[in-house]
Parts: sequence; C-alpha cells; structure tokens
Amino acid sequence: MKYPFTLPKLSYPYDALEPYIDAKTMELHHSKHHQGYVDKLNAAIEKWPEGKILELEEILKNLDIVPESIRQAVRNHGGGHYNHSLFWKIMKPGAAVEPKGDLAKAIENNFGNFSKFKEEFTNAALGVFGSGWAWLVAENSMTAIENAKLKIITTPNQDTPLAAGYTPIVGIDVWEHAYYLKYQNRRQEYIEAWWNVLDWESINRKSE
Ligand code: MN
Repeated sequence: MKYPFTLPKLSYPYDALEPYIDAKTMELHHSKHHQGYVDKLNAAIEKWPEGKILELEEILKNLDIVPESIRQAVRNHGGGHYNHSLFWKIMKPGAAVEPKGDLAKAIENNFGNFSKFKEEFTNAALGVFGSGWAWLVAENSMTAIENAKLKIITTPNQDTPLAAGYTPIVGIDVWEHAYYLKYQNRRQEYIEAWWNVLDWESINRKSE
C-alpha cells in the first residue's frame, strides 16, 4: 500500500457478518472510521515527498524516518489504515472456526492448544484499557510458520505490531466504535462473537 491510499473494498457485504457483527457497525466502521484514517494519512503524506514512494509497512516499521511535524499523524492514521485493512481481511461469513495446517501446529507449539490460545487472546483483548487492539503476532520471519515464535500482544490507539518489530497475524479492534452499537459496553460478548467470523483459511494462507 502506497500513497495515495484508498479505502479497500470488502470482499463481503456489510450485513455478511450478522449476527456477530451488525451491518450498521460494519458500515460506519468501514465507510466512516476507516475512510477517515485514509483521508488523514493522505493529508499527512502529501506534505512529505519522500514518503510518497514508500510502502506503508516500511513507514510504520521505521516511524523515525517520518518528519516530526507529521510523525504523530502518520502513526495514528497510517496505523489505522494498516490495522483496519488487515482486520477486514481476516474475517469472513461462515468461516472455519479453528485454524488448520501449519498455523494450527504453531499455535499448539506456542500455546498448548487452540482453546488455551483463545482464552489467552480473549483475556488480552479484554484487558486493553481504553482504545486499542489485541494481536497474535510472530516474532520471527513468517517464511516458516510452523517454526514461528508466536506471541499475544496488545497495542494502544492505532499503534501497529510492525512498529514493535512483530509480524501481525490476527488482530481484533477493541475500540468502542467496533462494537458499541450492538454490544454497548459488553466488550466480552463482542470478542466471543468475533471468533465466529475469523477466516482461518485466509489467515493460514497469508501466514505461509
Ligand atoms: Mn476501528
């Protein structure tokens, strides 16, 4: 992804993740919140000619190279664009509820079994104070996922795992805008529902 950034199209309609994630939330989240990050990221990079030719991933891995006057904007809105682009891609209606193949093996190696991983991830997501994300990340290169050292981390605001040197595999948005319309303050119900729409096949393919 490079400047000028654009809002990615979803591969499913806004109501496709019902009843787990409602259509109104999806529409606002994608067409307003994510669009906002894209617009503000473009406005920031517009002022930085050298940045226009860089991949967003490279920028987010090396925020020190961003001019100080736009660094915070790029961190927030670039992170927002990157995180949400990944978030839409790892979900799908009627998706498999558990990973298979090498990623499943890696989860077993690192967490014992899938349900232990799920519990640990859910607790991390519940524990995010205020707005942020919980992530399954790889510590090393993703070229051999079965040998990957996996970890669960959280990031505040729109900070990305990339900035901390990790490769993100799965992430959940626990900003209130991701669930408030349907679940109000019940973040746990949202997280439990979200497991039903995770697209482990695509996550597995991406991690290979
Ligand atoms: Mn969001």
